[in-house]
Order: sequence, then structure tokens, then C-alpha cells
Amino acid sequence: MIHIQNYIGGHFVSAVDEQTLEDYNPATGLCIATIPRSKKGDVEHAVNAAKAAQQEWGSLSILERANWLDKIADALEKKSELIATTETLDTGKPIALSRRVDAARSVSNFRFFADFSRKQPELKFEMEDAMNYVHRSPIGTVGLITPWNLPLYLLTWKVAPALLMGNTIVAKPSEFTPLTANILAETFDELSLPPGVFNLVHGLGHEVGQSILEHEFIKGISFTGGTATGRIVAKTAAPMFKKLSLELGGKNATIILKDADLEIAVDGAVRAAFTNSGQVCLCGSRILIDESIAEKFSKLFVDKVNQIRVGDPLDEHSTMGSVISVEHLEKVESYIDLALQEGGEILTGGTRKSTNFSGPNGVGAFIRPTVITGLPHTSRCATEEIFGPVVTLHTFENELQAIEMANHSEYGLAGSVWTQDIERGRIFASQIETGIVWVNTWLHRDLRTPFGGVKNSGVGREGGRWSLEFFSEMTNVCVKDTLAEQ
Ligand code: NAD
Repeated sequence: MIHIQNYIGGHFVSAVDEQTLEDYNPATGLCIATIPRSKKGDVEHAVNAAKAAQQEWGSLSILERANWLDKIADALEKKSELIATTETLDTGKPIALSRRVDAARSVSNFRFFADFSRKQPELKFEMEDAMNYVHRSPIGTVGLITPWNLPLYLLTWKVAPALLMGNTIVAKPSEFTPLTANILAETFDELSLPPGVFNLVHGLGHEVGQSILEHEFIKGISFTGGTATGRIVAKTAAPMFKKLSLELGGKNATIILKDADLEIAVDGAVRAAFTNSGQVCLCGSRILIDESIAEKFSKLFVDKVNQIRVGDPLDEHSTMGSVISVEHLEKVESYIDLALQEGGEILTGGTRKSTNFSGPNGVGAFIRPTVITGLPHTSRCATEEIFGPVVTLHTFENELQAIEMANHSEYGLAGSVWTQDIERGRIFASQIETGIVWVNTWLHRDLRTPFGGVKNSGVGREGGRWSLEFFSEMTNVCVKDTLAEQ
């Protein structure tokens, strides 16, 4: 049991009113930490610290700040095992996944943005009699609010470009998974990052998160989380003319065309559906299959799903751990019950009650990966974000229908198409209304590419130059060549 604190102005401090919240390991049901239950007064302190640090940090050159990012990456890399274990304890995800994805990506986020910034050409536009130079300056103090599914991965995805562009930060991680953000703060402290450049305030969304949104000195908000929360963020921050980046929910389609290599497609579809217990915004939670191969695909798919080893997250051999909490598990199970009411058939998995499965530890938030068929693609289970290990299978008669089904969603984050005809895959992908489409792969990420969603999946893009643009203001300086007039 550890007691973590806020990190404000280079000091670890309790909440002003000393209130705390408990943090649980969802695989064991045990309380593993307490965190400050911060409020408006704590945000005020954090903003004041950020304000005081802004001038000095903002006046470093981008190359000096890139060097900082490299130092941070090196320091985090040395803590990879600590980060992976901590993430597993906080989220219930398998340790192998925490190592391969969460710990590794937290390091590469810093390294990538450092390298990327060194390769940026100067932005200038020549006219016959003048030259335009685009000068970038920091936004100032930015608020970074992140969810529980990929805690340090998503926080560092924002922290790295925000620091690089000279901003100071007030960050709020999810109250369900605060521990690795604390490791990041400790790392900054050990490296003597100037006090106030990075401030961390823990607590509840509607208290400390809302105070960040409402603070007039915070000029930019980068938010990743659910669509309903995103609406609150936009409603609060947009009328204050804050810069806003919203990365929200998804209900992504995995589309299996009739010429797909079935072995590859099944592997990809299982990974897309069940990685991190289906708790990745990009997860393919509805699978659309050409009816001519549906029977064969479904059988292979279910066989593969049955090989998933749901087990103790700290066991190297587990390929699926728990979901984030018992409350979330109840939400997931309510969708499985709903699927049955809506006429669905469970091909494998089911609720804890129907499978008599209480997980390897008996008490944790475990459920078997669940595959449901027989539901209309317009049903609630096939259109609402469940964000758990539940996938629905649907068939289509032709590609036009597949596109219509894929686009029948309020969300538009990602999708994948599986076919052996690459050109067909590209054309098909261009008709899907999402920010990202993979052809014959899933979650294959190049950090230079634009990342984000359309429709209710978000506003704006992160990644590569889109992150640099978001975390900076641009001034165009047009210099007239007076000598040319003489
Ligand atoms: P959430 O919206 O409940 O919480 C996200 C963060 O917002 C948390 O830190 C929370 O405390 C905070 N928050 C809650 N209410 C707030 C308020 N009124 N003001 C300010 N902050 C507030 O989301 P979650 O349950 O933590 O995460 C799961 C969701 O995140 C899913 O919908 C998933 O699709 C989405 N997600 C999206 C992406 C993406 O890149 N598009 C990535 C990961 C997760």
C-alpha cells in the first residue's frame, strides 16, 4: 500500500484539504494505494507553479527541449520493469502486454518526438518581393486529461509534444490508474526538470478535471476519454476559446472480405477484438464478414478465442487479465444480457453467472472473452461502445452493404479491412468514415501519422506534426524585401 501525492512546483504534496481516494487492483480487489482527492484549490496551486515556470521553459530552444525528451526517455527506459509491473497492478492487464506496449511506448513517445523535432524543416513561403517565416511559440499552460486503459502510454503521448513545444503542464490521470503518472513525476524530479514545468494533480474527473477545464489561465486542453465526458469538456472549454483536442470513444468494424487470407484475418480479428480485454479505443468490437466465408471464419475465430488464456495478470503466460473494475465488469455483463434479450446467441464466453467463472483469483474483475452472433448490426450491442472483451459477428452480402454497415455508427475512430487484393483494400478503406483504417493489420502504428477520429470519436488529430501544431501557436512573419523596390 503506497500513499501518493500531487506533484506541484517541484514538490510532492497532499491535497489542500488532505482528502484522499483509494486505488484498487482490479485483479485482486485489494486497495493498493491512496491518492489525493484534489479540487479547485490544488489546481490553482498547480497553475501558479506552471505560470512561474513558463517564461524560462518557453525560452529554451526546441533543440534544448528535445535533449530533455531524450534524457526523460533514457530515465524511463531504466524503469521499464517497474512501469510494466505497476501498470499491471493498477489495470489488471497481463504483464507481457504491459512490457510490450505500455512501458515500451512510454519511452518511445519521448524518443520519437525528440527525433522528429530535429528533422522539422523551417516553415517559410517565398514571394517575389517578400519572405514569410512561420514562427512557433508555446500555447502556455496546457491541461492534459487521460483515461485508464493505457495510462502512461497516453499521458506521455501528450506530455512529450507539450514539453517539446515549450508549454508547461497541469496533468490529471484517471483516478483508477494514477500510479505510473506518479512514476513519471518522480522521474522528472530525479532529473531536476525545472519546478513547475510539469504538475500532476490527482482526483476525480468532475472535481479536479473540471477545475482544470474551467481555469482561465489554461489555454489548451488535450483530452482522451469517453465521448460523454468529451461533450462536457467541449461545453466547458470551447466558449473560453481554449485550444481543444478530443480523442474519444469508438465502435470499430473489422471487415473480412471474401478473398481474405483467413488464417491472417482470424489472428488479426482476435487481436483487434480482445487486446487489453477489449479496452482499447481502437478495438474491433464488431466483425463484418462476407456471408460466403462466414461459417468457416466464425469457427476458426471461436477456436482462436478459446485459446486466450485468461489468468493472473502477473503470470507471464496470461494473454488476458481482468477488466478495470467490478463496476465496469457489471456494465460489460449487462450488454451480454442485453444481447440475449435482443435475440443474440453466445458462441463462446458469457457472463460470470452463465459461465460459472470467477477468474483465477476468485474475486477479481475477470470475464471470459465473449463472441456473440445473430444480432442485427443496428442493435444496441453492435452500436454502443462496450469497451470490454465482447465482440459481435455480422454477415454482409456484398461490399456495398459492408460499407453501409461499417458506417452505421455514431463513432468514427478506426477500422480494419482484410483482403488479399491490396488495391481493393485501399479503395474499400477510403470509403470507411473513420480517422484510421488498417488493411491486413491492426494497431500498426507509425507515430508520424495523424491519429484521431471523426463523428463522435473526436475532434482534431494527434501524432507527428499534428501534435506539434496542437501544442503551439503559429505567427506568420512576412518580411518585405525593400531593396527589391529600389
Ligand atoms: P472517462 O471519460 O470516464 O475519463 C477520462 C478522464 O476524464 C479521466 O481522467 C476522468 O477522471 C476525467 N474526467 C471525467 N469527468 C470529467 C470532467 N467533468 N471534467 C474533466 N475531466 C473529467 O473515460 P475512461 O472511462 O477513463 O476511458 C475510457 C474511454 O476512453 C473509452 O470511451 C475509450 O474509447 C476512450 N479512449 C479513447 C482513446 C482515443 O484515442 N480516441 C484512447 C483511449 C481511450
